[in-house]
Amino acid sequence: MQVEPQTFDRVLSSMCTEPHPDARAAAERFLATNPGDPGTYPAVTDLEEEAISMLGEIAGLSDPAGYVASGGTEANIQAVRIARDRFESRTDSRALDRTGNPTPNVVMPESGHFSFQKAANVLGVELRIVPTDRDHRADLEAVRHSVDEDTALVVGVAGTTEYGRVDPIPELGEIARSVGALFHVDAAWGGFVLPFTDDEWNFSHAPVDTMAIDPHKMGQAAVPAGGLLARDETLLDELAIDTPYLESTSQATLTGTRSGAGVASAVAAMEALWPGGYQRQYARSQRNADWLADALVARGFEVVDPTLPLVAADVPVSTFDSLRREGWRISRTATGEMRVVCMPHVTRSMLESFVADLDRLQCRASVPVVSDD
Ligand SMILES: *Cc1c(COP(=O)(O)O)cnc(C)c1O
Repeated sequence: MQVEPQTFDRVLSSMCTEPHPDARAAAERFLATNPGDPGTYPAVTDLEEEAISMLGEIAGLSDPAGYVASGGTEANIQAVRIARDRFESRTDSRALDRTGNPTPNVVMPESGHFSFQKAANVLGVELRIVPTDRDHRADLEAVRHSVDEDTALVVGVAGTTEYGRVDPIPELGEIARSVGALFHVDAAWGGFVLPFTDDEWNFSHAPVDTMAIDPHKMGQAAVPAGGLLARDETLLDELAIDTPYLESTSQATLTGTRSGAGVASAVAAMEALWPGGYQRQYARSQRNADWLADALVARGFEVVDPTLPLVAADVPVSTFDSLRREGWRISRTATGEMRVVCMPHVTRSMLESFVADLDRLQCRASVPVVSDD
């Protein structure tokens, strides 16, 4: 029997979504291509250049370097790798008058994604996690206290995974510059909605060196399509490894063989949706998030204001568990709030039936059961 994938009709916590029809078609057409081998697969290599140039346009960068990664995780790991290698070349001379080589550190708010833990493990850098303020954004004083001459990278998040918050990007960029560190913005989820808000988050707003921006999340491309952007090509040179058996001479990606499906679907989605389609989607998602937040507040729950289309609310564990049993795919933040991400497949009627289930379950929990007859 053929196994069917799940439908999206009760999926409320995923950061992925149904791909745009053009993205799905492009993914299928380019499934058997490998942009890791440009000498053999030139068509998908041309598409990848187009993907990077469009991502640059979205992120306020006119001559971007970068590539389509497997996701935000790879883009974040690679950004840390660039910074570590930059740091090492910058400190080579300084290390000579010390006993050992200094360990580079990466300074990141506690709202940063767990992929940076992976990066720190793999790359042998120290991860310095600093607190966020009452609105879940990076606390600038704490960041200032944590950076020092061994800071290789400062990370800011533009659209956090748990609360959809945007860190003070220009200020974080200044702090990074003040200690000679690189500055990375993680816009893996937020990158396709922030162009339509007043937030300062991109290359044109701040001295950003690298960015993660994922077409396979709000960009409506097929998985796997992440994006690593760099302000200039020399940053990517830090990643280049010689490739003896391929016609191309070097490779900057972490993966070797990778699917052209992600590349082609990213281009197809962006061609179909940038900018008007994404703008309309953002407006729809934000209205849904505001509607859900209001509905939850009206029922007495404490809700974190959804400044981007992501709602976190303090719902009792028993209710959360009952909703999961009803088939709703919801998740929890580190501190236990229920989290709903208003992705493109999340419609108003889905949310209405979710709230109806919530009412029914709450009612069952608080009212003694009386038999009908
Ligand atoms: C989803 C996410 C990531 C990880 O991206 P993957 O595509 O799952 O590897 C990194 N950072 C942020 C802010 C995210 O929301």
